[in-house]
Amino acid sequence: MEVRQVTDHVRVLAARPPFYIGPLAPNVYLIADGEEGALVDSGFADDESVQARIEYLRGLPGLRLRYIVLTHHHFDHASGAARLAEATGARVMLHPQEESFLRDWQTDAPQDLEVPEGQEEWARRAQEFRREAARAAGNAGYLQDGDRLKVGSLTLEAVHTPGHTMGSLCLLLREEVALFTGDTALGLGTVAVSPPPHGDMALYLRSLERLKGLGASLLLPGHGPEVKDAGRKLQELIDHRLERERQVLSLLAQGKGTVMELVRAIYPELDRRILPMARRQVEAHLHKLVAEGKALCQGEGAEARYVPA
Ligand SMILES: [Zn+2]
Ligand SMILES: [Zn+2]
Repeated sequence: MEVRQVTDHVRVLAARPPFYIGPLAPNVYLIADGEEGALVDSGFADDESVQARIEYLRGLPGLRLRYIVLTHHHFDHASGAARLAEATGARVMLHPQEESFLRDWQTDAPQDLEVPEGQEEWARRAQEFRREAARAAGNAGYLQDGDRLKVGSLTLEAVHTPGHTMGSLCLLLREEVALFTGDTALGLGTVAVSPPPHGDMALYLRSLERLKGLGASLLLPGHGPEVKDAGRKLQELIDHRLERERQVLSLLAQGKGTVMELVRAIYPELDRRILPMARRQVEAHLHKLVAEGKALCQGEGAEARYVPA
């Protein structure tokens, strides 16, 4: 496992599990000051990653891990938490709105990774990860917007940023003005936003605006490299979504009115494996436009057609 110091008090414990098929494995951060430490996210629950992290933590003399703070419930961030907590005595902390999504692990609620058709091994692992993530909720403590945790002399402040998931948290390490953004802002690319009840595009944009206002000097994302020009990155993400929204409106005006017509127009070269994700993305934009009175929905379910208001 590669360990890299990113600031005076933060290092990233990068384990890339052998089965992982996505482009950017999830980041797990260790915040440490004096004899106390906290993890931000826990990575996957596979033996290789969990063992590598436990051994690394055990090798740090005198460090007591107090918290494992989860930015959100998706299993690439949360499934390792139960085992890491058992091994270290740390307390899992999360936003209360994530708890029900963790506990209902047997539904097929969207995750960051789709299980490709016919990949039995991956489907089996995904089930196991959902179960492990649910276990992490068992003894978890709650972090609400504005709550603070002490790690040594450091202060970690919770910022509730719904959108990617409803209970997504970002965490501001006040002494370093560094912001852990989970999947709300990635180091590279854009993240999937689902329509309610799993996510919300309007809230997502509001969350990005709010993060911009925090004036962080560094973003520490859930996937991908850290970002130094935080304000510009957040503005880029906002602009990207607004541009996509304009594109959806203009396609509606051209008579492309079903989710699939929009998906085909927006993602002409779409890999079939990420079709469900693309659909949800379009549905998230449509939900926002309808809620804001900019579009109307006619019909229901697969028959639904959208028109400009
Ligand atoms: Zn993720
Ligand atoms: Zn996620």
